[in-house]
Amino acid sequence: TTDIFKPAFEIIETIKKAGFKAYIVGGAVRDYLLAKEVNDIDLASSATPQQIQEIFKQVIPVGIEHGTVIVRYQKESYEVTTFRAEKGYSDFRRPDQVSFVDSITADLSRRDFTINAIAMTEDGRFVDPFNGQEDLENKMIRAVGDPVQRFTEDPLRMLRAIRFVSQLQFKLDPVTWHEIRNHAGLIEKLSIERVAIELEKLFQGDAVKSALNYFYEANLFGHLPIFKSNPSLIDHVSQIQQPIVELIDLFSYLTLMSNEKIAIHQWCKAYKLSNKVKYTGELLVHLVKLFQQENLTRSLIYQLPEVYDQRFISMVNRVLGQVIDLKKINEIRSQLPIKNRRDIKINGHDLQLLYPNKARGNWIRSYLELIEQKIIAGKLENDFEKIKEWILSCHPPEKN
Ligand code: ATP
Ligand code: MG
Repeated sequence: TTDIFKPAFEIIETIKKAGFKAYIVGGAVRDYLLAKEVNDIDLASSATPQQIQEIFKQVIPVGIEHGTVIVRYQKESYEVTTFRAEKGYSDFRRPDQVSFVDSITADLSRRDFTINAIAMTEDGRFVDPFNGQEDLENKMIRAVGDPVQRFTEDPLRMLRAIRFVSQLQFKLDPVTWHEIRNHAGLIEKLSIERVAIELEKLFQGDAVKSALNYFYEANLFGHLPIFKSNPSLIDHVSQIQQPIVELIDLFSYLTLMSNEKIAIHQWCKAYKLSNKVKYTGELLVHLVKLFQQENLTRSLIYQLPEVYDQRFISMVNRVLGQVIDLKKINEIRSQLPIKNRRDIKINGHDLQLLYPNKARGNWIRSYLELIEQKIIAGKLENDFEKIKEWILSCHPPEKN
């Protein structure tokens, strides 16, 4: 049903009462027609951002120069973008001048694929000048208009085409596909941030296998950082059968498969990923190597945050071909005497009092690590007196 669109329809009616046109457009219409879950609802309107600001109480100006504002309505956000045409992306990063146009059809014609170029009215009719509904039925990704022109305007569309293959389990229209093969090299001009977003979505899709097939056949990897100068990595990518959770999981996988020829920090630098993401990658790589050496030890599970369980299991499966049962991980975790360092019944301050003749220094941290290891291994009870007795027997205090 169209229940999910009810508030959006009300917004459209309000805009119409003010004398303008408005439609639901883009991914929401596509996903609704596919009976998939609808996420963000975007609207296109003949009203300018300024006019939208006059019509609604709560408007957030997010991209006025591109004609976009967010209307807050019943605690939800709706992006409203003025009908526009793009003059192309001469720097391949962001559209140059956008010019506002007066019809929904003109707006739809600047969109990437026919399935993304359908508009919906508030009474449930469709404006579909490029036969997007037919392509939805045939599960086909087809460029709007001339694919050569569209890919030259914005080469990101080639990556988007293949990520929709992956997300929707669609095929590429033969002409669209032909021109992706011919123009693959243009992706080198894109900002890596835009590329990374599409790549991640591509690898997350259910049909990642057929998407990777296209990707490989068009030699798109040959135009991406690191892959370009390390073609042997592409063979490892080709073996991927299951979707990944985040792009860093792909890079962690490749780090492991290449015997760390390319390290996580190099991937993160080349693809401009954050330090936080980098630590996740380093942790995954470390844990898989640890698993390879000593299997599922208590020490390994102690270092594995619960939120990464599935990603760790998938990584071990991909890299080592071994199947780990989540139950086994949970069983070991439930046996751990401590969950983290803060649970240890002795702290740095206590240790200093035990060794009054030692100056402050790194020894405190290494003693705590020693104690931590022993407790996790189940060889030392987490009890202040027991810990004290044990550490003093390992490292008798110096007398002076
Ligand atoms: P998702 O579910 O991933 O958000 P989406 O189709 O909504 O999918 P967005 O990137 O949010 O994708 O873009 C919204 C709409 O804007 C698209 O459906 C398409 O009509 C248009 N669009 C987005 N990026 C481009 C582009 N690079 N070139 C042309 N049109 C685009
Ligand atoms: Mg969207």
